[in-house]
Amino acid sequence: MDSSLLSEKETNPWLAAESRFEEAADRLKLDDGLRKVLRNPSREITVYIPVQLDDGRLEVFTGFRVQHSVARGPGKGGIRFAPDVTLDEVRALASWMTWKCAVVNIPFGGAKGGVVCDPTVLSEGELERITRRYTAELLDFLGPERDVPAPDMNTNEQIMAWIMDTYSMHMRHTVTAVVTGKPLDLGGSLGRAEATGRGCTIVTLEALKELGLTPSSSRVVIQGLGNVGGMAAKFMSQVGFKIIAVIEIDGAVYNPHGLDIQALMEHRKQTGSILDFPEAENISREEAFYLDCEVLLPAAKENVIHSLNAHRIRAKILCEGANGPTTPPADAILAENNVFVIPDILANSGGVTVSYFEWVQDRQGYFWNVELVNSRLEELMTNSFYHVLSYARNHSVNNRIAAYMLAIDRVAFAHKLRGIYA
Ligand code: NAD
Repeated sequence: MDSSLLSEKETNPWLAAESRFEEAADRLKLDDGLRKVLRNPSREITVYIPVQLDDGRLEVFTGFRVQHSVARGPGKGGIRFAPDVTLDEVRALASWMTWKCAVVNIPFGGAKGGVVCDPTVLSEGELERITRRYTAELLDFLGPERDVPAPDMNTNEQIMAWIMDTYSMHMRHTVTAVVTGKPLDLGGSLGRAEATGRGCTIVTLEALKELGLTPSSSRVVIQGLGNVGGMAAKFMSQVGFKIIAVIEIDGAVYNPHGLDIQALMEHRKQTGSILDFPEAENISREEAFYLDCEVLLPAAKENVIHSLNAHRIRAKILCEGANGPTTPPADAILAENNVFVIPDILANSGGVTVSYFEWVQDRQGYFWNVELVNSRLEELMTNSFYHVLSYARNHSVNNRIAAYMLAIDRVAFAHKLRGIYA
């Protein structure tokens, strides 16, 4: 599973996004002008944020916000805090957001942000000051009609609350719709925390129907028992799937008859690890990843299925909970082996979909119950799944290229209708 042997060309997220874009654009016979517009971000902002540390020293942090497209609506995308975040990475993630929002047909463009910092060595006060100054520097570019951030790696609902407060102080009134992923008491939406894992379950259930399978006859292997993987495990076991293995950072557990997910979560809470779970066997992460199963759900990190290991995947369905878990050269190998891929921009779009619902509720000032959130999520994701499938069939392409084609077509059409302002 080791991806350290791979070339930079295979693992660079911007190159991966670009190669899928080019292939889909070729299939769509997209003209050169529109390609140039869609290939490049519409705006990239770099800010240098002076922040006083707790010990009195002044430090300057670098922050980015890339708005890839605002053709279909405000930019939408998370902000990550990480020591190694780069503009290249943020640019790739921003373009992914454009395609993800377009696949599920929500009226947003794509954006992403990042601040180069190490949250593990920063105090809460330092994190708050970084967040507030980053927001203040971006004030002219953010807003419910302009660009709506959300949490991503190492950012959470508290950080969203600080962004909302900073923005609101400058506007002189409370503007909840400037960010999503907020605490419930500040305009957050019910169902948001579970949305990505729920969305993965919804599209996997549809994929089963396509392959003539049922949940009770389907074995699932999940990599990463975090927000996405943990919620997906919970919902999938509720609807009758057999979760036979879970892979975490320190190893994997296996039970061919199915794991009790609630009990496994409880075990991890008490012991700090999924390993040594009663009624399961500890196995290596590699062994678990290549198990014979109906569904493989990578929900941990990028580039885990690549040119060196794709031929070892034995799942019938690959549901990409993580962003970018499969490299472009692996796509061809999976297709050759008839793996039914539910591509990341569709499979994990439940999170941004409920973020959209949060933005709508904030703007309405009227909040929905969780049943309404979940039923609208299900309707939107099921429709999107079949739109992607019909693109794949009509154009004889794999599901990933179909999802990109559908998304690019929608964004390109918005550009054509709007025309170019000169
Ligand atoms: P998370 O941090 O909550 O969970 C990730 C889990 O994966 C953790 O439990 C971690 O220990 C485990 N992990 C890390 N490296 C691993 C490895 N090598 N092998 C096995 N397990 C490993 O993160 P998350 O929010 O669940 O996000 C997971 C992926 O899903 C990321 O790619 C993220 O970009 C993507 N995603 C998340 C959301 C969301 O709403 N949270 C939405 C869309 C996409």
